[in-house]
Amino acid sequence: MDIEPQFVADLHIHSRYAYACSKSLTLANLAAGARVKGIGLLATGDFTHPAWLAELEAGLSLVDYGTYRHGGVNFVLGTEISCVYRQGGKARRLHLLLFLPSLEAVARFNGELARRGVKLEGDGRPSVGVAAAELASLALDADPAAMVIPAHIWTPWYGLLGSVSGFDSLEECFGGLTPLVRAVETGLSSDPAMNWGVPEMAGRAIVSFSDAHSLPNLGRELTIFRGKPTYGGLKAALEGNAIAYTVEFYPEEGKYHYNGHRNCEVRQSPEETAAAGGGRCPVCGRPLTLGVLHRVRSLSAGDAGGGDGELVAGGDGLIRPLDGRPPFLRLVPLEELLAETLGVGRRSKAVGKIYQKLCAELGSELATLAWVGASDLQRAAGEQVAEAVLKARTGRVVADPGFDGRYGTVRVWGERPGKGWQGGLL
Ligand SMILES: [Zn+2]
Ligand SMILES: [Zn+2]
Repeated sequence: MDIEPQFVADLHIHSRYAYACSKSLTLANLAAGARVKGIGLLATGDFTHPAWLAELEAGLSLVDYGTYRHGGVNFVLGTEISCVYRQGGKARRLHLLLFLPSLEAVARFNGELARRGVKLEGDGRPSVGVAAAELASLALDADPAAMVIPAHIWTPWYGLLGSVSGFDSLEECFGGLTPLVRAVETGLSSDPAMNWGVPEMAGRAIVSFSDAHSLPNLGRELTIFRGKPTYGGLKAALEGNAIAYTVEFYPEEGKYHYNGHRNCEVRQSPEETAAAGGGRCPVCGRPLTLGVLHRVRSLSAGDAGGGDGELVAGGDGLIRPLDGRPPFLRLVPLEELLAETLGVGRRSKAVGKIYQKLCAELGSELATLAWVGASDLQRAAGEQVAEAVLKARTGRVVADPGFDGRYGTVRVWGERPGKGWQGGLL
């Protein structure tokens, strides 16, 4: 038995002040949502936004170095920033997660951005014309204990290694600061197994968070760290790759798993794109949006991303690599499982009622999806819902990959993949 303490963290979220985010993303609602989901450490998100920062200052109590508390949940001060600039003759667009250990450090950092003409009172996730390396050093100048995690690194747009406006390596992006970047966030369209073949991931922590823009999406991906749910505990865990496991979407469900053109209704696997040659759309003739699987494979040393066949989940659902890297779980959000099983909408009253009941009775959404044994599940949820949870936990699903900004689907009932899933044309 593992006697080391562990904590469940979601460190990529937004407030109601970020673009296209739900108005219900308040501090109180985030804390309440985290408790239902089973999250012990949340990032505040959006600390560059003056109105949100004022709410954080008013609502958070300092409990430990860099660690705050509200509504029974620990918080660290975190944000996401969009860097848009040119380097090496190419337009670069990428998102970084930044963490600082004090409100004073946040004030120093925000002051530097304001001095550079960044409008902080607009979007909670501001866009800055500052290179990623320079932004990282601004954060480290604000406090040497700052942490930098490139966000959803594989997404074609706004991912550090993305196919459209990213780099080919962390080194190319961060230069001399690269060793300080101890972790990368994989995003919904990729899971750790897809990253294990990429040489520069060796020795780096691979983390997953929700990027939630609304409360139901909180914790849809998570990282379970070893150690204490504090800023110091988090920093030590990231530096030592002390991850018990990550909780992932099925990567097919992400919006950029395959290649394609949404408007042309064209979707291709990397093999189909290779066989067709050139990566152009058969309908409009323009280059296809190359998805995450394609991009991961092109930056991998060997046959990465195709390892699903050898990575069979154990009875506990954990998918373990052969070397010492942390394992991971693939899960389907509970509301999705309930909606599919009941044959109703995800936001329906029936789903909401059972969701609340199961999270209350079994401890949390994460406990329900990942931890609770079969007999307890059957008792609380009934045969069918219990079976749906167990299927999702152990990889007995049918996945229909997302592409070019359209979410994929993962179903646990029926063997029928999505409509017209043949030959790459939808
Ligand atoms: Zn982002
Ligand atoms: Zn097209």
